[in-house]
Amino acid sequence: MAKNNSKHCSFCGRPESQVDFFIMGQDGAHICNDCAVQAAEIVKENSSKKTNLPNLKKEQVPKPVEIKEYLDQYVIGQNEAKRYLSVAVYNHYKRLMQEDANDDVEIEKSNIIMVGYTGTGKTLLAKTIARKLHVPFTIVDATVLTEAGYVGEDIESILTRLLQVADYDVKAAERGIVFIDEIDKIARKGDNPSITRDVSGEGVQQGLLKLLEGAVVNVPPQGGRKHPDQKMIAVNTQNILFVCGGAFDGIEKKIASRLNTRVVGYNAGKENEQVDKKNLLQYIAPQDLKSFGLIPEIIGRLPILTYLEPLDRDALRRILTEPKNSIIKQYSKLFNMDGIELIFDDEVLDYIVDKAIEFKLGARGLRSITETIMMDEMFEMPSKNEKKLIISLPYAQSKIEKANINRLKTA
Ligand code: ADP
Repeated sequence: MAKNNSKHCSFCGRPESQVDFFIMGQDGAHICNDCAVQAAEIVKENSSKKTNLPNLKKEQVPKPVEIKEYLDQYVIGQNEAKRYLSVAVYNHYKRLMQEDANDDVEIEKSNIIMVGYTGTGKTLLAKTIARKLHVPFTIVDATVLTEAGYVGEDIESILTRLLQVADYDVKAAERGIVFIDEIDKIARKGDNPSITRDVSGEGVQQGLLKLLEGAVVNVPPQGGRKHPDQKMIAVNTQNILFVCGGAFDGIEKKIASRLNTRVVGYNAGKENEQVDKKNLLQYIAPQDLKSFGLIPEIIGRLPILTYLEPLDRDALRRILTEPKNSIIKQYSKLFNMDGIELIFDDEVLDYIVDKAIEFKLGARGLRSITETIMMDEMFEMPSKNEKKLIISLPYAQSKIEKANINRLKTA
């Protein structure tokens, strides 16, 4: 390629004078040191992408009991949801392995829907399970989704996130898990579709249907809105597991009325068995989701329906100290890093729980309350020469009484 006798890099074209050295190839080709480094990086990147693919040997797939035991280390209670999730994920793995099978039985996808009050651990369950698995995982919020053409994000952007966490390795993303949070927010608003166009409700559900049932979808690599001259990436959702979560505020009324009306039926005696009115979510059935405003097609694509228990005082108290990365353990670690031993008096822990209940903050409030109690000490202790810090009840009370309750609520 060089017109005169001087050598040029066959890749970037720079002459010998502008590079450190050349590596020579066949027929007068050269590569400069910079291009060689870049080429090596490209090779490295591509080979590491291949290893992203889950290695699905049967022996390595965690069994449901094992998955649940792992969840137990991080999530308090919620046994029912844990069992359902563990089984669904295990079956998901089996589905991914079925390509090797030579029979006609095809295991269908078992997408999951979890119903439970906000702050009871839906996202935590999904996040924790993702850590255990070796497949790409992402959380998306259904509230930002709107029908194509309206302000908001296209439904396909759900898959953009998955592609991003999979480092744009399409094969890996196609075996991933997506957690769609706040699925209840795309319920149909009212029964009369003619009032205003329901751009974030039924239209979005229709769009979502395509992803849930398995289709090849064109995904904008950078997310947001699609635009005409953007290059799209085709992603097949056939093997992507969708886990949906939502609080479904007010669904208890639908459950209660269904339970009441059925008492009149021919199996009235059986239905009359005591209904635990304090926790109606445990009786949730697909038809309640329909009464709430999910379209039957979506419900059909989410065959596994489970619920989360409301967190009582005992559960909140356990959440404070028991999980592997519990709030109290995290604060202890923070102080330990400065060589300080941190001790909470037991009454302080009870007090934190009491306040979370009193302010109706749930499990999320435990952190903001603890943070409020600890803020001054976190500011001062690192500069003091003390090796031990004991948090007593009067100290905790004084900090909370001084605090602005509204700040706690938004934390
Ligand atoms: P949501 O049900 O609204 O998705 P999250 O999973 O986001 O609730 O819970 C909020 C926070 O509350 C979590 O990050 C965690 O610290 C705590 N939490 C909620 N439920 C539990 C639980 N069952 N076990 C342990 N921590 C919990």
